[in-house]
Amino acid sequence: MKKHLPEDFVMPSFVSTPNNENSDPTTELLIDLTDQSIAGFSPSLSNSKNPDISNKSTLSNSSSTNFFGDTLATKTIGQFDLNYLLSPMAEPETTKATATENNFDKPIERWLNVNIRAGDSLTKIFKQLGLDTRIALEIARRSDAKILNMLRTGPYLQLLVRGKRLISLRYQPDLLSILSVDLQGETYRVNKIQRQFDVVERTATGIIQSSLLESGIAKGISQSLLFNFASIFQWQIDFNKDVRSGDQYTFIYEERYLEGRKFSSGPILAAELIVRGNMYRAIRHIGKNGANQYFTPEGESLQGLFLRSPMRIARITSPFSKKRYHPVLKKWRAHKGVDYAGRIGDPVMATADGIVTFAGRKHQYGKVVILQHGQKYSTLYAHLSNIAGKIQKNRTVAQGQVIGYVGKTGLTTGPHLHYEFQINGVHKDPHNVKLPRSFAIDRSLRPTFMKNSDFWSKRLNQLARR
Ligand SMILES: [Zn+2]
Repeated sequence: MKKHLPEDFVMPSFVSTPNNENSDPTTELLIDLTDQSIAGFSPSLSNSKNPDISNKSTLSNSSSTNFFGDTLATKTIGQFDLNYLLSPMAEPETTKATATENNFDKPIERWLNVNIRAGDSLTKIFKQLGLDTRIALEIARRSDAKILNMLRTGPYLQLLVRGKRLISLRYQPDLLSILSVDLQGETYRVNKIQRQFDVVERTATGIIQSSLLESGIAKGISQSLLFNFASIFQWQIDFNKDVRSGDQYTFIYEERYLEGRKFSSGPILAAELIVRGNMYRAIRHIGKNGANQYFTPEGESLQGLFLRSPMRIARITSPFSKKRYHPVLKKWRAHKGVDYAGRIGDPVMATADGIVTFAGRKHQYGKVVILQHGQKYSTLYAHLSNIAGKIQKNRTVAQGQVIGYVGKTGLTTGPHLHYEFQINGVHKDPHNVKLPRSFAIDRSLRPTFMKNSDFWSKRLNQLARR
């Protein structure tokens, strides 16, 4: 079964067991959360076949309705040891059947994990589950539980029920808060729990052997952190071409934990890259809109107007040259661009903000996109298998936006990207042209930034000396 959970979905602590923790500080990521590494929810971490759990279980069969195909954790509530299941409402019949079946003698308590769908209300959900809807109405009327009148869609609701009766309810209105409703005596008690991230600082450092990605992953650094690191320097360094074995990387980053479990890695706070003896450093600055920006320790922007490479991972197969032997035409002529090897379908990015001046077929170029960047600059991307949907003449594009996909249309021997760069209509080598920087740090923010920069530069010095 394919699992799709929202990125910010983290279950509250009452579904967790302490020994489920992933102690490796670098392997778990925010993006992984959409798949399987939700705190305590990885099927490999808990097992319904575990006799310790199933003996205490109040559920005879947990296989069919469980979202992850597994039992998740146990906890004692009152005198019951309960299994917490993640069972979406996609199969209400099953849920109902189980509930009724166990109702004859002594009603059992069980947690139902509800996947809230668009248009669902608490009453509607209660009705579908065969629960007492008067309770839903009573709770939703309360002023301290108003939030339950506007349920957000997704797996954010859990109900502990006994027969038709609601014992407890947990609802997660946003990532960091939980609303709980618990039956105490004859009335329901509402509680709001606010959670907080714990932030831990980490460092990563290593020597590049083949590529940054391979070397970093071999050291246990997550792929997304390595991509973040590379993207900080992408205006200075073409990681496909400039980096050699023996080059070094160092960075300091944050990890966020939610109730003892790692939630995400990043942002990078300070970074250093040594490429063939040249040192590049970047210091994080939080921009006005809260976004992370990176500057040199002197406060110059690292963000250039152009990316060095239109592909994230690519190898140059034919450089810019005044004269080269053309493999198809079988004659010598200038190669006015750079060829990147790629597989059909690999994404191609706009190297700068601009306007589409051409998107379509053009002779030997095959499917091609041409972008104009301000008055002076233009770029061209040729042999595409497909042009991205939004890329049409006169549309604007943003730097890094995917404009098309590697292909072999036009005059070419195999799939690759042919990339051209022009200044005032003259072809230039995109790897040797001096590119303009976009901006430096705001004058008013400079003193604060320089203090930060000093601090982080010293930290990087210490790491380098280790
Ligand atoms: Zn070419």
